[in-house]
Amino acid sequence: MPTDRRSISSPAGPRKLPVVAASADGAASADGAGPTETPRARHPEWVKTRLPTGATYFEVRDLIHRLKLHTVCESASCPNIGECWSRRALTIMILGNVCTRSCRFCDVATGRPLPPDQGEPQRVAEILADLGLRHTVVTCVDRDDLDDGGAAHWAETIRQVKARCPDMTLEVLVGDFKGDVTCVDTVLAAGPDVFAHNLETVPRLTREVRVQARYDRSYRVLDHAKRRGAVTKTGLMLGLGETLDEVREVMRQVREIGADILTLGQYLRPSRQHMEIARYVPPEEFEELRLEALEMGFPHVEAGPLVRSSYHADGQRDIVRELLGR
Ligand code: SF4
Repeated sequence: MPTDRRSISSPAGPRKLPVVAASADGAASADGAGPTETPRARHPEWVKTRLPTGATYFEVRDLIHRLKLHTVCESASCPNIGECWSRRALTIMILGNVCTRSCRFCDVATGRPLPPDQGEPQRVAEILADLGLRHTVVTCVDRDDLDDGGAAHWAETIRQVKARCPDMTLEVLVGDFKGDVTCVDTVLAAGPDVFAHNLETVPRLTREVRVQARYDRSYRVLDHAKRRGAVTKTGLMLGLGETLDEVREVMRQVREIGADILTLGQYLRPSRQHMEIARYVPPEEFEELRLEALEMGFPHVEAGPLVRSSYHADGQRDIVRELLGR
């Protein structure tokens, strides 16, 4: 999952605010200061986000908290929260807010999660119906403690959302289910419109970045979903120490299995406990990679410093519908 985690031993993590600092022009800039960086060092000027303000932002926040739901936007301290929530774009995170894994880029808390909340699927459907969205992304924490990795809970959530919001396109951003493709089939059988699973980084860095994951396993999950006819999506973070040629190789590999949508974004360090940023990738390089990916045949590519798997996903509704129709 595209998140950062702090290790805690209790399921109840404290609420966090997005890690942002005001910059000269009133925009906000995520603070990536690390041990070897100047204290309070700023990101480059192209990494700017909006501070959370405005009535819609607070309405969305109140609704989420009233229904006792979690979002990756808050749990992972996403720097885009001000912009996204101000236009009612959010990514609900199911199966709790404590993850069984400890990826070194992710700010979601690691620990021993509570059992799945049986009322959660219905509340997810309720909030999405209330918000009247045309497209949304739902994600989850990794639940290696459950025999099915949470697949049955996923399926129930998808079914309830589809029943309440028949016109909304639904993208599910799932974990690797430890490579168990029967769990992938359980999720797909419930009928999501997009099956997303992030490779996050290149093979050489996977073990360091996603401690309990394997690149080949994630690749097989995507391949399996595509063979089952799903519209598939994956994403990478750049700036973790990969080379551009390694990124190009991953792009080629995922295109080979027919993945439809690719996202490329800058890794931003949520705290000093997380991996350092190896490099800020300038916007021109993202654009270069976007054009190369389109050239390789991806139907849709989002690439840019602030791109996250779910960033502007609502704008992908038309391409998703077109892909579903093919
Ligand atoms: S980019 Fe995704 S995770 Fe971040 S605030 Fe927007 S919807 Fe939430």
